[in-house]
Amino acid sequence: MEKLSDLEWIRAAVERHEDEIVKLSDSIFDFAETGFQEFQSAALFTEMLKADGFTVESGIAGIPTAFTAGFGTGKPVIGLLAEYDALPGLSQEGGVTECRKREGNPDGHGCGHNLLGAGAYAAAVAVKEYLEKNREKGTVILYGCPSEEKGNAKTLMARDGIFDGLDAAFTWHPADRNYVSSFSSLANVSVYFDFKGITSHAAAAPHLGRSALDAAELMNVGVNYLREHVIQEARIHYAYTDVGGIAPNVVQGSSRLHYFIRAPKTEQVLEIFERVKDIAKGAALMTGTESSFEIYSGLSDFVPNRTLTQVLYEAMKDIGAPAFDDGDYAAAAGFFSQAFGQESLQARAAALAGEFGRKPEEIAAHPLDTGIAELKWNMPVLPGSTDVGDVSHVVPTAQCSYATMALGTAMHTWQATAQGNTSAAHKAVLAAGEALALAVVRVMQDEEIREKMVEDWKQETGGIYICPISADVKPHLEG
Ligand SMILES: [Zn+2]
Repeated sequence: MEKLSDLEWIRAAVERHEDEIVKLSDSIFDFAETGFQEFQSAALFTEMLKADGFTVESGIAGIPTAFTAGFGTGKPVIGLLAEYDALPGLSQEGGVTECRKREGNPDGHGCGHNLLGAGAYAAAVAVKEYLEKNREKGTVILYGCPSEEKGNAKTLMARDGIFDGLDAAFTWHPADRNYVSSFSSLANVSVYFDFKGITSHAAAAPHLGRSALDAAELMNVGVNYLREHVIQEARIHYAYTDVGGIAPNVVQGSSRLHYFIRAPKTEQVLEIFERVKDIAKGAALMTGTESSFEIYSGLSDFVPNRTLTQVLYEAMKDIGAPAFDDGDYAAAAGFFSQAFGQESLQARAAALAGEFGRKPEEIAAHPLDTGIAELKWNMPVLPGSTDVGDVSHVVPTAQCSYATMALGTAMHTWQATAQGNTSAAHKAVLAAGEALALAVVRVMQDEEIREKMVEDWKQETGGIYICPISADVKPHLEG
């Protein structure tokens, strides 16, 4: 009998586990637990991984819903990153093409992290069986990374050394198309600024009061002037989370602002953060109030490792796009015809037709990505942030996306949530698991790849990790 290639073997291993992988994904979809509250999701993962023969460690980095599951011996040690947190307020029934909240749970998987976690699990199980079959040296570790959407658990895990000792890391993300991530994302610090003033009767004794609301407003004015004197790519956002009360005739004794400071590199974020801190101090000085700040979370820019990204791209091309069928196209067409924002259906079909070289009516009837986008470098920075960035600064990392939903679907919407347990999404999870597993196996087998990826990583990051959060920042487990 002819020997199966690694590709055929990996594909067969994932297929053998198809039922468990789909069950895991759909169960997490139903649990829909938000950041740091993923107790049922983490329990299901660890129960399944233990049954598969992995050694599980739960509650790592001081986070009850974070875990590692390892299998194998010695080097190379390759990590797979799983996420499983839902988004608040995005409750939605799966598979229906209208906004319909599920009873009993206000939250939902608007970013597809149920699929993400299940795809990483699929890869881990396939690699484990590959190591067993070939009696090869090497270790695969599935990292259970909670709370990506808020709290950025991977940053806390990276700061606490959880990824130390890894040789490489891979992950993926659900999307409306298939591509390898050759672009960076923005670093970010999320920080609260507090002002403490003195309350007083605003008409009878204003001279005795010191307004914390004035301080907050002056701080924002200062930051709005700062914008002209920071790099173009920086993004600074703020929201008032305490305005010191609702009575205009009371001098406000407290105020709180929530700031996001984003820039392409962590060093740039930290530099702008120092200037924002000075502005807060200035606002306090101007108003006779006291200021303080509390870092809530932070994350680094994502650095795609050049060599690993190429390996993952080739694995994706070898595995191919998810094997969608007519039922998947029909279901996707139902979602495609839903409005996303203000864009008309015709405009969206025309734009996608141009991008994919297909006819607009053909896109509208078959709105699923059936190819793998070509790998291109020197792409613009993604105007968002991910805590995979912190992993990429500690260890060579690559990630990709697979089409789990109709073309043009916007993330963090009910439409994205509704497509989190469709037959198309299940097919994409299997394809993602296969591509990740194939990439892991190829890195394990090839010393030259491993040497090159380390060279790239040293060049790309300088070989040092500047964590955007200080040692005293704790996970916000309260939900
Ligand atoms: Zn996400």
